[in-house]
Amino acid sequence: MYESVIDGDAAIAHLYELCEIEENTGRGEYMREQFEALGLTTEVTPISWYSNEDENVFADYRGDPDSDQYLVVCAHHDTVSNSPGANDNGSGSVMLLELADALVRNDAKINIRFASFGLEEKGLIGARKYAAALSEEEKSYIKGAVNLDCIGNGSDLVIITKDYYARTTPWINEEIEKTADSMGIAYEERSIGFGASDQAALIKAGIDATFICRMEGHSIPDIHSPNDKPENNNPDQLAEVGDLTYNALFNIYNAEPRAIEEKEDAPEVAPPDGRFQRSQDWPILL
Ligand SMILES: [Zn+2]
Repeated sequence: MYESVIDGDAAIAHLYELCEIEENTGRGEYMREQFEALGLTTEVTPISWYSNEDENVFADYRGDPDSDQYLVVCAHHDTVSNSPGANDNGSGSVMLLELADALVRNDAKINIRFASFGLEEKGLIGARKYAAALSEEEKSYIKGAVNLDCIGNGSDLVIITKDYYARTTPWINEEIEKTADSMGIAYEERSIGFGASDQAALIKAGIDATFICRMEGHSIPDIHSPNDKPENNNPDQLAEVGDLTYNALFNIYNAEPRAIEEKEDAPEVAPPDGRFQRSQDWPILL
């Protein structure tokens, strides 16, 4: 058993507040305010896609001033129009806040840039705009990235090895798995053939990144549904992902990036109940 640093009930309390906010930009502002309340420096980039408005919110924790390197920990705060967006992806968003809180409380010697992306549901718009605006020099400071999307509900903790868009980075997955093993946390590696989340935009831009989520069997509970409510999220399941992520960040931060012999792909997850269809041009998004 491990010592928990993440308070699942505090995460759920944030989740209720976040899901009260319908406008995506308002959800971004909630994230900014909460990061600032923790004493982190924030930066906001407004983004739009056709008539959709949102913002990318960044918050920096710098506990290792001797290094220029940092990790990006990201989640998207926007939701589809017919859904309160609790699991997808209020859950990942509030975990950014709990992770930031834990780093501050523990005076952690690590550099993290939290990225709360907007308009993921419109095609990874926030993450794509962020990645496109990075210079090669700026990218060189980013050691790696971890994306949290749909982590609040589901019996299985899943490390995604490949989504519709991109293969995640094996050395980062290996560090997370090593961490999980040391903590006694069970996980599965899976690839998904039906969706993509923000890490794919970062990987396409040349940044090493991965994606952690939860599944129930082969589906993501309540995704894109009016039933995606805070009360359907589980504080213990949320905290488990948070504790794993928190501890893995230190191992990723201190690891040497390395090539790893490619494993065979994990079994591909079938689209749940036929709701997700593969599109040649555009992936259906998580
Ligand atoms: Zn999502």
